[in-house]
Amino acid sequence: MSVAVEAALAGQKIIWGAPVYDQARVAFDETRRAVGDIATPNLSRVTWDFPMTGGQIIFRSLDNPDNVRGHTADGVVIDEAADVSPVAWHESLRPMLIDTGGWAWIIGTPKGLNWFHEGFRNALSRDDSMAMSAPTLGAAIEGGKLVRRPHPLENPNVPWSEIEHLFNTMPERSFRQEILAEFLSSDGAVFRGVDQILIHDTPYPREHAGHLTVAGVDWGQQNDFTAISVFCCTCKREVFLDRFNKIDWHFQRGRLLSIIQDWQVRDTLCEINSIGSPNLEALQREAPIEISSKVKPVIRGFQTTMRSKGDIIRALSLAIEKKTAYFLYDEIAKYELISYEATISEAGNTKYSAVEGSHDDTVIARALALNAAEKYWVIRPTLTEAINKELPATWQDAYLDKLNNQDPVLAQYYYDARRATYEEIKTEKLNKRRPSVDYSGDPDMGAGRDGWSE
Ligand SMILES: [Zn+2]
Repeated sequence: MSVAVEAALAGQKIIWGAPVYDQARVAFDETRRAVGDIATPNLSRVTWDFPMTGGQIIFRSLDNPDNVRGHTADGVVIDEAADVSPVAWHESLRPMLIDTGGWAWIIGTPKGLNWFHEGFRNALSRDDSMAMSAPTLGAAIEGGKLVRRPHPLENPNVPWSEIEHLFNTMPERSFRQEILAEFLSSDGAVFRGVDQILIHDTPYPREHAGHLTVAGVDWGQQNDFTAISVFCCTCKREVFLDRFNKIDWHFQRGRLLSIIQDWQVRDTLCEINSIGSPNLEALQREAPIEISSKVKPVIRGFQTTMRSKGDIIRALSLAIEKKTAYFLYDEIAKYELISYEATISEAGNTKYSAVEGSHDDTVIARALALNAAEKYWVIRPTLTEAINKELPATWQDAYLDKLNNQDPVLAQYYYDARRATYEEIKTEKLNKRRPSVDYSGDPDMGAGRDGWSE
């Protein structure tokens, strides 16, 4: 608070943002004590004005980022940042500081590895930023026991006995997060290993020309965003991600259709609960006649129920953990993945959703795209892998490739020795099942369950 008051006294315009109105209002009321007579409150605008210097503190709730749009500011304070959506920071508050070259204080108690954690880590490594973490009262957990470790930023008014009591009565995880201010991964986190499957590049349609691409669409309503993810089944990666909040259906359909055209998307899976079937039918009517010679794009609907949603989310989670699919790096989409949660209802069902106050549109769009992709992309052993499986250990590719570096003569001897057997198994397998990797026809006639991938 003193940071904001000092800045306003120096004539600066400050935005004070909190997750919800009540918290912003508490900060507004507390300002009274800090400013005495030098500033005047404006109850209807929820501001404190400093007439002598022209400074001002504007209090706003950030549950709807539009609440702060249109302002410029010399400084921004975000209180309880872990409960604030990253959209409020990235799309509303951060841009206000561009013209003024202003500053930001982002304060809060950790809550898993969300954007607040990301910002904290980034600030540690940047020259123009600073990050500080302070426990309520300096303490550490060593060998399962609580020990006192005084900290320069600790709150001197908290008695040590209180901390001991909390340590004995709180789960250790909660104690570490709430009292020691440690950033911990969330217990209910659904997607693990997100960092490993993010790709930092900007693909172009021509790089995936002739590849089989599919898309997933999550339609937004009112405050939600519409997200479109395009996935290349050939490269097993996302190639395009779009997120926008225009509620005009005509506009949304137009945008999707142009993406289908640009990326030659064969098969699009749209969540239909919010758009309803007339909109889906309109899309199917307006879809391009063909995207490449004789291929008409397919646009299908996906009815989201608790169960169907669980299925596609678990499949996405598995693909990420096993690194069988890769996705584009995008700050907001990454946050949506990391903060996505599974909770168990009283009836024992698992419910998947974004953390409170945050969106999950890119998660759903990606889960739908992956669901569409997996139809064409049955994971099965390659013919070479299947043959290798039946060979003795010393004849297998992996072994011989390694041996080739150490003893090429011996390796060659094994290669020659196995040749006849290798061909025999190959012929047998090919006769038993015809290869059927076919990306050219109707989606339903595509890759069958039998056969070998390339
Ligand atoms: Zn590709």
